[in-house]
Amino acid sequence: MSRLALTSDFLSTLRSNLLKHEKETCAVLYGRAVEISGKLARIIVRESEHPQANAYSERTSVRVQLRPEFVAEVVQRARRNKESVIFVHTHPFSLNKFSAIDDAGESELAVFLNQRVPEVAHAALLLTPEASIARELGTKKPLRVVGVGERILYGDTPVRNGVNIRYDRQIRTFGVAGQKILESIRVGIVGVGGTGSSVLQQLVHLGVRDLVLIDPDTIEETNLNRLFGAKPQDVGKFKVIVAEAWAKKINPAAKIEAKRDSTLKASVARSLADVDFVFCCTDSHGSRAILNQFAYQYLVPTIDMGVVIAAPAGKVTHIAGRTQMLAPGLACLACGNLLDAEQVRRDLLTDFERRTDPYILGEPEPAPAVISLNSTMASLAVTMFLNAVVGV
Ligand SMILES: [Zn+2]
Repeated sequence: MSRLALTSDFLSTLRSNLLKHEKETCAVLYGRAVEISGKLARIIVRESEHPQANAYSERTSVRVQLRPEFVAEVVQRARRNKESVIFVHTHPFSLNKFSAIDDAGESELAVFLNQRVPEVAHAALLLTPEASIARELGTKKPLRVVGVGERILYGDTPVRNGVNIRYDRQIRTFGVAGQKILESIRVGIVGVGGTGSSVLQQLVHLGVRDLVLIDPDTIEETNLNRLFGAKPQDVGKFKVIVAEAWAKKINPAAKIEAKRDSTLKASVARSLADVDFVFCCTDSHGSRAILNQFAYQYLVPTIDMGVVIAAPAGKVTHIAGRTQMLAPGLACLACGNLLDAEQVRRDLLTDFERRTDPYILGEPEPAPAVISLNSTMASLAVTMFLNAVVGV
């Protein structure tokens, strides 16, 4: 499902400001629509505007309408900036769906807006005491409302159509609603090596069944000490292909998109606008830098993780692991001084540039890696994810 994404603070504030009124109340949001392969992936909300009392032509507890002059100004601004417009209104007395009156008013508005600001997706957002419900303007195409922050706020609980007994024991931990969230979100894993394959295994066991795996590498014999799902005969195969087969063994119903590609490519990174959560399991500083920016710019919550074992000459001097969530309100990797600028520069070079760079001599030494440490970090990361989406 496409998304209407706001920061969680923005969503909470909007809800409390509008729902405190006993009459239906309106607001207008402006945002950027992001399309991936011609399909709307998300609208990212940036700003809100709150009409004054005199901007309403009608306003009761069951009906609301804005004056055409006000709407005209909104549309003019959106046209200038090629922005998405999101018309917000409340149902103060918990009718948790768009009404027939909403349908009629909205389709008129959609015709007008699509003429004046064409080729940009617009939306309607309904706030009720129980839910935040959105759709593409003038259509029945639902948008999932998502507030992005340390905790992810979902606008509405996904439809409950049956519960699979295999998840019984964890439903006893975070409930049917939590399980339905896991089963309805799309998760991207960037890098399916030691930590990524461990994260994948846990997510599929949890019931996440819509996944995008991104990794350009093939399996080497030296990966077999830690790569979940890989057998000796898989050496030479693409990591994402082996990971996909492994995930489908755990849950044959899982839908896996395997991309033999790198997020260093802009189009590949941008395709992550069409996922709900990203795990950054790459050891590339370049990819990290890109995903770090992406998380905040596109409001895609991301967990970055890594393990470093320092063992010069086979003697361990220290071991460090890090699991960090990247979302509005939380420190990014640049804040934490966790990006090595020189390493980022090297990772972002083309092959040709790297070969001819006078500061890069030969291949780097392979880094040490131990399965138990990778799995520990993967478990912490998945637990952090569960806390963010279902509150474990
Ligand atoms: Zn309504």
